[in-house]
Amino acid sequence: QHEEALAARSKDNLRSPICCILGHVDTGKTKLLDKIRQTNVQEGEAGGITQQIGATYFPVEAIKQKTEVVNQDGSLEFNVPGLLVIDTPGHESFTNLRSRGSSLCNIAILVVDIMHGLEPQTIESIRLLRDRKTPFIVALNKIDRLYGWKDIPNNGFQDSLSKQSKAVQNEFKERLAQTKLAFAEQSLNAELFYENKNMSRYVSLVPTSAHTGEGIPDMLKLLITLTQQRMAEKLMYLSELECTVLEVKVIEGLGTTIDVVLSNGVLREGDRIVLCGLNGPIATTVRALLTPQPLKELRVKGSYVHHKEVKAALGVKIAANDLENAIAGSRLLVVGPDDDEEDLEEEVMSDLEGLLNKVEKS
Ligand code: GDP
Repeated sequence: QHEEALAARSKDNLRSPICCILGHVDTGKTKLLDKIRQTNVQEGEAGGITQQIGATYFPVEAIKQKTEVVNQDGSLEFNVPGLLVIDTPGHESFTNLRSRGSSLCNIAILVVDIMHGLEPQTIESIRLLRDRKTPFIVALNKIDRLYGWKDIPNNGFQDSLSKQSKAVQNEFKERLAQTKLAFAEQSLNAELFYENKNMSRYVSLVPTSAHTGEGIPDMLKLLITLTQQRMAEKLMYLSELECTVLEVKVIEGLGTTIDVVLSNGVLREGDRIVLCGLNGPIATTVRALLTPQPLKELRVKGSYVHHKEVKAALGVKIAANDLENAIAGSRLLVVGPDDDEEDLEEEVMSDLEGLLNKVEKS
């Protein structure tokens, strides 16, 4: 089965990378996410951005549209079908999203407030990203707070900077130099993204504003460039399943459900699944696979779109019996025709020690 999965891999069949947002409190993680999610209603085109369970999916068309201002020469070619961004920024969802020690996040955005520099949780985030060997870029956010900054909404950063006064440009340079120094103190080489000639040795800094949208096209372009350059291997589509429990939630009318991120493979209604429980392994059958109603539809409380089958990468809610004691962070396995359920139970439970240590700490 594994051989077959490997043979089916192809660089022409990449799956969507999964992106997490990390950083110190109040640096603008939530605002940045809101800003990239925002679709230009006046221009009509929503570009198919869809809210999923615990994540937002950006199809490549939407990303093309959002990066157009900094990709007019078309130098960036898009090979990924889209990008899945995890909705809850911060350490917890990042540490939950792992499988056998490595992260399910293929790439991360580390947000730093340009006015504050590196803060305690920034340093903690750097440690996590390094432990999990996750490539990341840095959003140097809140550039609109540089004294005298003139907004050019949703513009590329270089063009915006060139239109600022000398004083603003100087303040930017000073803060940039301070930030680079602070990263160097953490033994990280950091470079302004358009001066970075070696993305595998230097972390790219992208100045952004979640308020004006400046720099966001650059940030998205960089995310796609970095994933495509560094991760084509990892992003090849696998029929083998890779799925992690993000949250366990009681929903009226559905009982206890689990919100999972499916990072590889396919899940189907009726699948027999195995995951970690507080009192031992849980084996149950998928009753329903659910995602929220599309944004434009009237939000009726408790109404979901049902799926017979879902394909990676996406966030989805699973309704099934016996999920009361499921543990967030647990791996989820599907029992295939040739699998022994007890073997799989043993396999998922072997992760438990690490998970429980984490539960105790938090
Ligand atoms: P989080 O804790 O990292 O998720 O930070 P939030 O997104 O909640 O933002 C914290 C505060 O900073 C809020 O008051 C935001 O309005 C503000 N903020 C976020 N991004 C920007 C920005 O780019 N420019 C300015 N001026 N304020 C920002």
